[in-house]
Amino acid sequence: MGITRGFVGAVGHTPLIRLEYFSALSGCEILGKAEFMNPGGSVKDRAALGILQAAEASGALQPGGTVVEGTAGNTGIGLAHLCNARGYRCVIVIPDTQSAEKIGLLRSLGAEVRPVPAVPYRDPNNYVRLSGSIAAEIPGAVWANQFDNCANRQAHYDSTGPEIWEQCAGQLDAWVAATGTGGTYAGVALYLKECSKAVRCVLADPHGSALFSWATDGSLAMEGSSITEGIGNSRVTANLEGAPVDDAVRIDDQTALQVLYELLWHEGLFMGGSVGINVAAALETARRLGPGHRIVTVLCDGGDRYRSRLWDREWLESRGLRQPGRTLP
Ligand code: PMP
Repeated sequence: MGITRGFVGAVGHTPLIRLEYFSALSGCEILGKAEFMNPGGSVKDRAALGILQAAEASGALQPGGTVVEGTAGNTGIGLAHLCNARGYRCVIVIPDTQSAEKIGLLRSLGAEVRPVPAVPYRDPNNYVRLSGSIAAEIPGAVWANQFDNCANRQAHYDSTGPEIWEQCAGQLDAWVAATGTGGTYAGVALYLKECSKAVRCVLADPHGSALFSWATDGSLAMEGSSITEGIGNSRVTANLEGAPVDDAVRIDDQTALQVLYELLWHEGLFMGGSVGINVAAALETARRLGPGHRIVTVLCDGGDRYRSRLWDREWLESRGLRQPGRTLP
């Protein structure tokens, strides 16, 4: 990659990692886009940068201005880094159910963090809605609005999608990803479908989200719950709207945890919970397609942000989950 221009230049251009253990296990080639290697530590650096650049280009964000966002964590972390790098004030509204690591990190990064009770989207006190009203009250502030601002998926259409297509030299059979805002899934799916209609786009979903039922029967039915953070939704965002969906897979938390721990034991990769959902869904896609296919998914962020949760036996047991025991291959 050579020399980059500051933090901004270091966003993206991540490796595409062949998951050796899971590829051998499935008979397919399972590839993970290493988004945890972005300088802010997650896939959301790309969206944060795309949103900021669009706001700068439109003139809405002026030097010394303020960026406000409602975020489950990673977008806020990306924005906080970028605001430091570009001289903006950063205000983050976050549901108080999110991990202490993420809230603490946002504060360390200099963001003004406002934790609020987690309430459904239809409630005016929902963190996303609150962030919009806070932005409207601060002079010179822009609302990043990652869920419905399509600069988010555009960033993935412009960077993540082309990188994957090039890294695969045009040889891939399926794209599999869970969605929070839908930016990653939709931006990449739209780009890959333009390159080749044969690429199968598979939406992965945890329990407690309406997107699996939306993708399979068009309803927005929800069932159960999940400990994963940053993925699943009760509605179809502007970023997800119109994205190609050829298939959908719903993964339960215990299955995702097993895959997450195996990623560490067998691949050496210490990942966050959405990666467990993504790789488990890639394995299910491999089963549906049969051996010999190449499947790409996302390694969204690292495990460090969830040490007191996903990697803590007592916390898992308090949620009715079992910490996977170490098995040797
Ligand atoms: N995984 C994690 C850990 C995330 O924070 C997010 C973002 N909310 C996603 C996956 C999903 O990304 P997107 O918002 O692009 O759908």
